[in-house]
Amino acid sequence: MGASIAYHLAKAGQRDVVLLERDSFFGQGATGRCAGGIRYQFSTEINIRLSLLSLPMLDRFEEETGQAIDVRHCGYLFLLAREEDVAAFEQNVALQHRLGVHTGWLSGDEIRRRLPMIRLDDVLAGTWHATDGLADPNGVVMGYVNGARRMGATPLTGTAVAGIETRGGKVAAVVANGNRIETPIAVNAAGPWAASIGKMAGLDLPIVPIRRQWLSTTPLPQIPHDFPFVIDFAQSLYFHREGDGLLTGMSNPDESPGFDQSVDRDWEIVAMEAAARRMPLLESAGVVSRVAGLYEVTPDAHPILGGTPVEGFYVCAGFSGHGFMHGPICGLLMAEEILNGRATTLDIDPLRFKRFAAGAGREEYNVV
Ligand SMILES: Cc1cc2nc3c(=O)[nH]c(=O)nc-3n(C[C@H](O)[C@H](O)[C@H](O)COP(=O)(O)OP(=O)(O)OC[C@H]3O[C@@H](n4cnc5c(N)ncnc54)[C@H](O)[C@@H]3O)c2cc1C
Repeated sequence: MGASIAYHLAKAGQRDVVLLERDSFFGQGATGRCAGGIRYQFSTEINIRLSLLSLPMLDRFEEETGQAIDVRHCGYLFLLAREEDVAAFEQNVALQHRLGVHTGWLSGDEIRRRLPMIRLDDVLAGTWHATDGLADPNGVVMGYVNGARRMGATPLTGTAVAGIETRGGKVAAVVANGNRIETPIAVNAAGPWAASIGKMAGLDLPIVPIRRQWLSTTPLPQIPHDFPFVIDFAQSLYFHREGDGLLTGMSNPDESPGFDQSVDRDWEIVAMEAAARRMPLLESAGVVSRVAGLYEVTPDAHPILGGTPVEGFYVCAGFSGHGFMHGPICGLLMAEEILNGRATTLDIDPLRFKRFAAGAGREEYNVV
């Protein structure tokens, strides 16, 4: 988010942009640990609209920035094994159709025919959207960081923000590595750590870190090249091709909030057993790499975008586990909000911080 915002501000002609990253490299937070999925299949209008604007930006990314990001339109297939999910997804698909996203509805038998290597006896139905897929998160971060730098922005690593100074309810400076950067504008794009930056400005942002993890396997030549991103929705279990093997993850519903990013080996066994039950050929696969990272979860599973009661203090965080794909458009929307006083490409009112005062809005259902 930070890289995309810096890029879009610089592209709009704003040269005095400083991008502050605590780590030694960019993109080591949630973005660098994410599974790379990009999809149109959401349950709320605002998330679908974010995808309608953001995914085409990923398609054009290499042409625009010169950075390859390996976009693959392998499609997303949601498997539905509970009656309540079938009912909810019927509504989601109707909304997607109304907004121009042509998700297909598949019967259990059609899915069983298409994916013989997956055990699907309990699957009632599924949804399929062909231009959902995958892209390379590190490529996106570096494309935006390098593009922002070329256009005059100053990206800095090893620079941890320790304070936001305000005067008379307005941002006055950002304190990082013992230095004061005087500025009337600060943007909080600290992902799972965004609540701590919010506190520095005196705001209580409802963004909670929750650990999620996945692993990738040794080559599985049986997996066809056009294998889709498959999500067993009831179990929050997913698979997609990664190199010549598979990447698989499953969300632990009992994970407590916290900043621990070590791989939970006990949960890995539970997840691997569930994955092998669905896809028995995984029993013959070895593990090549394992990754744990943090979702940045809000009460309604939607991000917080835009200005706040502290003048000059903006937030772009809380994407609740599906923010990588919305990075391109959210960078543009934030640049508009900062430079023009209001995001214009899309009305971001449903995503503003103030929504929580009125009680959070409709929750996103398609959270994995
Ligand atoms: C396991 C996993 C799988 C996921 N899969 C997907 C997926 O398939 N598709 C998808 O769209 N999304 C996915 N996500 C979610 C996605 O990764 C996030 O929504 C998105 O990357 C958030 O981006 P961000 O820029 O807000 O946060 P981050 O990428 O975490 O960036 C925040 C940055 O702020 C820095 N920072 C924090 N505190 C400070 C400070 N005090 N000073 C300076 N810098 C600071 C951090 O070091 C970090 O680099 C997944 C997440 C995880 C963990």
